[in-house]
Amino acid sequence: MGSDTGFQDFDRQDRTYLPVEERKTNYREFTIPLTTKELANQAARCIDCGIPFCHTGCPVNNIIPDFNDLVFTDDWRAASEVLHSTNNFPEFTGRVCPAPCEEACTLNLHDAPVTIKSIEYSIVERAWDEGWIRPQIPARRTGKRVAIVGSGPAGLAAAQQLARAGHRVMVFEKNAKVGGLLRYGIPDFKLDKRVIDRRMAQMQAEGVAFFVNSYVGHNVSIEALVDDYDVVVLAGGSEYPRDIDVPGRELQGIEFAVPYLAQQNRRVSRENLPAGLDTSAEGKHIIVIGGGDTGSDCVGTTNRQGAASITQLEVLPRPTEQPDKLLTCPTGPKSCVPPRPTKKAVTGGGRCSPSRSRDRTGRSTRFMASSSIGRMSTGAGP
Ligand SMILES: Cc1cc2nc3c(=O)[nH]c(=O)nc-3n(C[C@H](O)[C@H](O)[C@H](O)COP(=O)(O)OP(=O)(O)OC[C@H]3O[C@@H](n4cnc5c(N)ncnc54)[C@H](O)[C@@H]3O)c2cc1C
Ligand code: SF4
Repeated sequence: MGSDTGFQDFDRQDRTYLPVEERKTNYREFTIPLTTKELANQAARCIDCGIPFCHTGCPVNNIIPDFNDLVFTDDWRAASEVLHSTNNFPEFTGRVCPAPCEEACTLNLHDAPVTIKSIEYSIVERAWDEGWIRPQIPARRTGKRVAIVGSGPAGLAAAQQLARAGHRVMVFEKNAKVGGLLRYGIPDFKLDKRVIDRRMAQMQAEGVAFFVNSYVGHNVSIEALVDDYDVVVLAGGSEYPRDIDVPGRELQGIEFAVPYLAQQNRRVSRENLPAGLDTSAEGKHIIVIGGGDTGSDCVGTTNRQGAASITQLEVLPRPTEQPDKLLTCPTGPKSCVPPRPTKKAVTGGGRCSPSRSRDRTGRSTRFMASSSIGRMSTGAGP
């Protein structure tokens, strides 16, 4: 541990955001990274716990105290090596991971965890800038052939590990571009798609071959894959949306989130839209049902498309302003931005409590917690 007193010497400081009015005008990422000096101070706050709860809070068990220390001692290259030893794609997680490591951090007991996610982001971006991330070409080929179906983060991580182990890896993706929901679900303002292309190029140099517009079970036969490859990895994700069975569900103008978000991502990357799919929120009054990450992405996207109003409905009770620290992953402590005084926003939901919440784009949105989305949908009417 580099500093004995860092957690007392420095307050928590995190990345900031571009002004709302500026970022609403485009789909670009809007975080402003910390400087090298600020990052060293933040890394110095880590107390290198005997039992590092951050490490087990992290779904990929990133070795967080070690890379914090290496950032503090200005050995960024070694920090990148430690980070990549457990995580194939820190540039994705440093942008969009919900950071359960920070929820688990000992310093979160008094609401000021180490800014682990921002440190992770800066380590990997610096490693790319400095040219430290190079193809890792295996010294020996095994002669085995592996087919991977699906190029989301699961398929990509499997492909990279298997290629580095010396196997011939081929990834089959039904869409026109690689990345799964990183590409077609998560909006560009949270994850710039050039970040995926940059990693793909490294993987191609490591020997991974990508076949796009290759829909296994349709234009690529399953039998051919099973016959031609030693192993077939299924990494097709989970593509069925959860519907709600309420009166009025059959009305026009109700969209599932992912096809809607995918359209906008395709527009940003100048891809052709699938026939019959061209929806925009411009000038419309929008209701987003669901208050999680996907709902938040819909708020950010409809906002950028110029919606006349956006109302977000959530079936769970409104989170408390102070999280319950004893709740841990996967039931992460949740808290709510304190509401600002506001007029009652939407009619028809008598028992809901309207408040304002901030989505990750910084947009202040009407937010209503209810015990029944069905009742809200019927009452408010989309
Ligand atoms: C809108 C949205 C926002 C999200 N935001 C976040 C976030 O901020 N942070 C976070 O951690 N997680 C987020 N997630 C969750 C995250 O994106 C998923 O958990 C992750 O992408 C799952 O990875 P995967 O590789 O299993 O599947 P996917 O990403 O779904 O990839 C599966 C791939 O398989 C392809 N495929 C399927 N069937 C076939 C076939 N027969 N032939 C060929 N290809 C096929 C699909 O086209 C797709 O490209 C979000 C999800 C959504 C929908
Ligand atoms: S829990 Fe927090 S303070 Fe402890 S080692 Fe992890 S990052 Fe450092």
